Amino acid sequence: MTLGEQDSRYIWHPYTQMKSAPPAIPMVRGKEALLFDEQDNAYLDAISSWWVNLHGHGNPYIAQKIFEQACTLEHCIFAGFTHPQAIRLALRLLTILPGKMTRVFYSDNGSTAVEVALKMAIQYWRNKGIQKSRILALRHAYHGDTFGAMSVSGRSVFNQVFADYLFQVDYTQIPSNDNPVEDHHPSEYAAVIFEPLIQGSGGMLMHEAADLNRFIRYCRSQGMLIIADEVMTGFGRTGKTFAMDHVEEYADMICLSKGITGGTMAMGVTACNQSVFEAFLSEDRTRTLFHGHSYTANPIACAAANASLDLLESPDCQDNILRISKLHADFRLQIQDHPAIRNLRQTGTILAFEMDTGQPDSYTNPIRDSLYDFFLRRRIILRPLGNTLYLMPPYCITNAQLEQVYQAIRELLEVHREKVPQ
Ligand code: PMP
Repeated sequence: MTLGEQDSRYIWHPYTQMKSAPPAIPMVRGKEALLFDEQDNAYLDAISSWWVNLHGHGNPYIAQKIFEQACTLEHCIFAGFTHPQAIRLALRLLTILPGKMTRVFYSDNGSTAVEVALKMAIQYWRNKGIQKSRILALRHAYHGDTFGAMSVSGRSVFNQVFADYLFQVDYTQIPSNDNPVEDHHPSEYAAVIFEPLIQGSGGMLMHEAADLNRFIRYCRSQGMLIIADEVMTGFGRTGKTFAMDHVEEYADMICLSKGITGGTMAMGVTACNQSVFEAFLSEDRTRTLFHGHSYTANPIACAAANASLDLLESPDCQDNILRISKLHADFRLQIQDHPAIRNLRQTGTILAFEMDTGQPDSYTNPIRDSLYDFFLRRRIILRPLGNTLYLMPPYCITNAQLEQVYQAIRELLEVHREKVPQ
């Protein structure tokens, strides 16, 4: 049996209708922005393999650090014990995170980072003896696939089946110039959670830093804890290290994952400030944060994260982030008036637009599969969210590779020029 046949027989893939989906393409190696299949065909990874990869595939520096750590200490229980990589990483994150973050709580992925933040927020008020339990979230939000993370995400095709099992959350508009928070009981909220500047899975919806700043200020004035979910936006995607670096206001908790290890190991982090942390200090053991995972602060993942941070902080990588942002901006000028697209937008290294199909923008827009196939035939991995196309390349992508993606988009737009509804 080929790899593909074995996969089709034994594996259940994420977000995949297994009855109709085409067979998964086996990838056998990766180098920089490229992934290679069994026949050694190169695919350009223009979405950083689900937004995780920062420095390219098979990065030798991170690989070496992972190897060294695996030979030294591969894992150790993280209750009652600790290790140098976790301590070093915590210190580095607390130094670079915006706001006055003083503690790092480790977990496994973006969803768990969000779960931990929600638990911290809910129990914070409980520990203080104050009755506040409602959570405010943004429409079109996406915070993950575990039940708490689904609860604070917008209701959508991703979670509608589970709607009866999700806790109740109130939604407000994406921060904008003309939408004050239209809520009647703001003081009852334990916390507000949002994806700063870019709502990713909701369709790469972008908002202005000034509007976000005003929104946070309002929420804080109403006594809410502020949770910034930087799972997607963290580690340079927005042009600054964190999206919250673009605003003056700060968060009480920040969720991190995806790029934290440069896309090599699964890891989640929830950072919080001293006030949140202190609300859990007590002689009363019931005030403990009862949360943990077997692989909490896995030393190999922490070593990978430290290595990825070394690379991220290097002048080369910072130049690459600027370079990609600039090339995106130039490309935007070239296509901005094209009739086949709408709402062309960019924040840092992320560029997005909608294909005008005459139908509502939606994850289930039928154009999605043909867009995906169009790029795959050209050996470019782009994974549209319905009719929303976006680029989120690893920072090592070359100018020539970016031009290859831009050229494919130009060709796509020409194909669709005639099809635009009048
Ligand atoms: N928060 C945001 C903003 C995300 O984009 C995602 C994943 N796309 C998550 C949380 C969940 O992360 P994970 O898939 O690692 O559970």
